Amino acid sequence: MQSTPQQTSELKKACINCGAELRYAPGTTELQCEYCNYKQEIPPALDDFQELELSNYLNQLGAQSHSEQITMLHCKNCGANQHVEENYKSLHCVYCSMPLVVEDAYKDDWILPGAVLPFQLDQQKAHQIFKKWVDGLWWAPNKLKKASLDPQYTKGLYAPFWTFDAQLYANYTGKRGEYYYVTKTVGSGKNRRTVRERRTRWYPASGSISGFIDDTLIKASKQKKGVIPKKVAHWDLRKLETFRSEFLAGFVTEKYTIPLKDGHLEAKKEARNIADRWARRDIGGDTQIVSSIDMKLSKETFKHILLPVYISAYRFKGKRYNFFVNGESGKISGERPYSFWKIFFAVMGVLAVLGVIIYFMNRN
Ligand SMILES: [Zn+2]
Ligand SMILES: [Zn+2]
Repeated sequence: MQSTPQQTSELKKACINCGAELRYAPGTTELQCEYCNYKQEIPPALDDFQELELSNYLNQLGAQSHSEQITMLHCKNCGANQHVEENYKSLHCVYCSMPLVVEDAYKDDWILPGAVLPFQLDQQKAHQIFKKWVDGLWWAPNKLKKASLDPQYTKGLYAPFWTFDAQLYANYTGKRGEYYYVTKTVGSGKNRRTVRERRTRWYPASGSISGFIDDTLIKASKQKKGVIPKKVAHWDLRKLETFRSEFLAGFVTEKYTIPLKDGHLEAKKEARNIADRWARRDIGGDTQIVSSIDMKLSKETFKHILLPVYISAYRFKGKRYNFFVNGESGKISGERPYSFWKIFFAVMGVLAVLGVIIYFMNRN
């Protein structure tokens, strides 16, 4: 069935009082006007978010009822594709801070997000977390500290992920190992003593396992630099809301650069790991060997979801640094430069003090 792409993601939300752009207010279900403080409730979702049947999407995209066209800006420097839900003023890539050229905007197909985890922290709060973190850094260059004071470097990004559900069924063969202990005498003469040694007795094992794999989270952004660090990349997926473009208002949304097909391969690898764990549990004993697994996935579904993160991109001596704050939990992580001169003078200072001490000690 052919359906016409709709452009629901790009309706501008204007304030009915003053005409300014409305933005999503983190932690609420409202749009807010920055200028006159007008608030507008985001209409409730008509239905719960849907899991989409995977097989329909793997081969063909664009003719699906859940895909649409969206305006994208491509960063020539780092390759990120981003959609900005506000008037294009001065735009910088959220990952590498390179200027984006509005004339380069193009229409692109994307699988509409099924769900979004709305920002829970506002930009000001995220910026405070950055600032506190940077203030606590030892040996950081002053320029870095200054940059962290400028809130325009901190941007809220909805990062793209795939999640997959599937029914897993597998036959396995392997071995169950049971520990036993033997007592041995070692050494000779005065050093003669007995020790307990652990041995394993192996028994053949085989069987089948099955179960439902829920929400395997796979990143959908190909960014090599500026990858969201593990420490930050945990979200409470129970807070997912059915996708409504209102939640994106005022934020940057990144389009997935890892296609569904590749995301699905990753999810399959993860399913294989899960099958291995389940097989080990099924085998039991003290230790296990899994020699073969014949795995089948059925009823595979997926969702394209958006998860919130604040990114601060900053260049220092030609190198790029990113700081990340989870837009839901407030967890922070980042790379950091060290100031050569700060360390140099500190070391010189310590040496000078030592010199003075040694000088006085020798005089006595
Ligand atoms: Zn207004
Ligand atoms: Zn970039």
